[in-house]
Amino acid sequence: MRSFENLIAGKRLPSISGKWLPSLDPYRNENWCEVPDSDAADVDAAVAAASDAFKSAAWGDLTATARGTLLRKLADLIAENAQQLAEIEVRDNGKLFSEMLVQLRYIPQWFYYYGGLADKIEGGVLPIDKAEHFVYTTWEPLGVVAAITAWNSPLLLLTWKLAPGLAAGNTFVIKPSEFSSASTLAFVDLFEKAGFPPGVVNVVCGTGQAVGAPLVSHPGVAKVAFTGSDATGRAISRIAAGELKHLTMELGGKSPNIVFDDADQDAAAAGVASGIFAAAGQTCMAGSRLLVQRTIYDDFLARVRALASSIKMGDPMDLETQMGPLANIAQYKKVLSCIADAKSEGCVVALGGTTHEHAGGGLFVNPTIFRDVDNQSQLAQREVFGPVLAVIPFDTDEEALQLANGTNFGLGAGIWTKDMSRVFRFAKRLQSGTVWVNTYRALAFMAPFGGVKSSGLGRESGQETIKAYMQTKTVWINNSTQPPGNPFIMRLG
Ligand code: NAD
Repeated sequence: MRSFENLIAGKRLPSISGKWLPSLDPYRNENWCEVPDSDAADVDAAVAAASDAFKSAAWGDLTATARGTLLRKLADLIAENAQQLAEIEVRDNGKLFSEMLVQLRYIPQWFYYYGGLADKIEGGVLPIDKAEHFVYTTWEPLGVVAAITAWNSPLLLLTWKLAPGLAAGNTFVIKPSEFSSASTLAFVDLFEKAGFPPGVVNVVCGTGQAVGAPLVSHPGVAKVAFTGSDATGRAISRIAAGELKHLTMELGGKSPNIVFDDADQDAAAAGVASGIFAAAGQTCMAGSRLLVQRTIYDDFLARVRALASSIKMGDPMDLETQMGPLANIAQYKKVLSCIADAKSEGCVVALGGTTHEHAGGGLFVNPTIFRDVDNQSQLAQREVFGPVLAVIPFDTDEEALQLANGTNFGLGAGIWTKDMSRVFRFAKRLQSGTVWVNTYRALAFMAPFGGVKSSGLGRESGQETIKAYMQTKTVWINNSTQPPGNPFIMRLG
């Protein structure tokens, strides 16, 4: 079995306790590698390394332009190693090689983008209201950032944190998901090759309780950048608030795809299927609720059902495969229990709802559709994170909006219509961080992404994100030759 080690202060290390965690290949349902089962002692060492690197001249004195150059070198190396990294991700989480290769080939764009942005973050000279004072602002990095990621797209989610955070001048301790740490451990080899000083990027593997919790509460950590479930996000936010840390939270969703009777129905059906069955539904932006106008309800459902029935399931490395296994046993059990709960709360199965037996022996669940679902049901309210679609009819635009906004989440929303005035009305009134119109699951490095309500705090990607890894400093210089005023009165006037 392959072993991957932590990276702390530029050194490859096992956990201090010497314990290991096995990592599952979900297609074969067998362990294929092991990663360190670390704890608070490893976290202490990694935070100390990141803190030393932050204060070091080798990193701290680099100009923003020089940091940008490092990020661009890293981007080149990622592009060169895209195939090998994608293969590790597929082995570790069962997602399709065809999708992971596209992700890995696109990930360099974030490093080019933020590499270019690094030296364009400008402070200002303030037109201050006090004579003979010169006052300016600068933007500074925060310090050590804890990046905690989920298992579904490990390197993409990590990139959304590292690229802006390193461009801003911070250092990192990364805690990948215990279910898919291998690609992160292979990825960080590239930082040394690109010329980043040791300790700027560190990785500590282990469980949420043993590594994530002590990392979040560590006094040496200035910011927590988290991707995961809303339950874990809330737990982390409570601890981070107590320690007054900066936070970015990318959490789950229950995103609606809203299909009107004037939509291009072929395009809409393909978009709906891609929204929920791509990646076997294991994406934060899964369009897991389908709202369909009643005038086309049966026809449209039949189209989506036909597409879902024809999905080719199998080996995620096979370029013909359209849906792979679920990523780990815990998630497999969770999806099956959500399906069982939906059946017992009276939801009507229109397709699937069963496991899929496959020669690979992996953790497959068939594409599943429930029809005529009540928006108040658990199925419509709870994130499943699997290939399970809840279909809900509506009559009017207003009803569609109420249903779309009627969950605690607000990550993404899709609208399928040709009516542009409706598009603008919905884009304004949908409670969602992203609205896709006649498309779904599209992302780009310059487009902010993130959630409202229980789907998160802050945004990733886009220009504004770099400032979530920075803080302003205001510098007051008194040029006056006049005698000082009354020292016991604040200098306001
Ligand atoms: P999770 O919340 O179980 O775990 C996420 C990470 O948090 C893991 O690394 C885990 O070890 C760690 N963790 C767990 N408990 C912790 C604690 N007490 N303190 C600190 N860290 C802790 O989520 P998951 O099952 O790995 O991922 C699926 C979830 O992620 C879904 O809800 C999905 O919607 C969400 N997600 C969101 C986005 C987004 O960009 N909004 C992207 C991908 C996934």
